[in-house]
Amino acid sequence: MKTMKLKWIKSLWGDLVHVIFPNICLACNKLPKAKGAHFCVDCIHLMPYTDHFFIPQNDVTQHLKGRVTIKHGAALLRFREGGIVQQMLHQFKYKKQRAIGEVLGEIAGHKMVESTLFEAPDVIIPVPLYYKKKLLRGYNQCKVFGDAIGQVAGVRCDDSILLKHKETTSQTGKSRTERIKNVSDCFTVAKPGDLAGRKVLIVDDVVTTGATIEACCLILQNHGVSHISVLAIAATDS
Ligand SMILES: [Zn+2]
Repeated sequence: MKTMKLKWIKSLWGDLVHVIFPNICLACNKLPKAKGAHFCVDCIHLMPYTDHFFIPQNDVTQHLKGRVTIKHGAALLRFREGGIVQQMLHQFKYKKQRAIGEVLGEIAGHKMVESTLFEAPDVIIPVPLYYKKKLLRGYNQCKVFGDAIGQVAGVRCDDSILLKHKETTSQTGKSRTERIKNVSDCFTVAKPGDLAGRKVLIVDDVVTTGATIEACCLILQNHGVSHISVLAIAATDS
């Protein structure tokens, strides 16, 4: 109980600090931002970047291994409970700090273009958000991230192809099979004609169990895509 209260106070402070001190780093909530940046110099250098762009078998590919076939998968950052990546994603998803996704998408886009494991996609598809959630947040965070990647790679990020038509119930406490079942009937392809033979890049915020990505891959594969790659902001250890 005490820990929960402490966590709540910490999270509340994290939200308030940017209102009171608009020049504070969006990742650590402590140091001033570097000139012209959204993060402080420490965070820019200490960000837990992965080597996924250059390693065929990594946390993202392992999360999906034996479940769906993908060309390549990568996350830009390593996700740790209570770490700076979690803090950043909280600001990005719930506090309208969309610049975080734009900056991370630009970095991820450059790494993807440099990587020989990724093949240039024809279209970028963000993991969709149920419309009520999108209205509440003001944007789909995956679309913001995907748009920034698309700008670097010269590829369109299209959020009108794959839609989420109902809200997923909480995944907590569910087995892997239950998680897949829970998400698999939430997605619809709105433009089936746009997928046949296309090379698709799915973009997501955090890959944890891989259940959401798996459901997206399955529905896109059923519509005849040529191959799928996956790029996320962060991933937990596999
Ligand atoms: Zn910082």
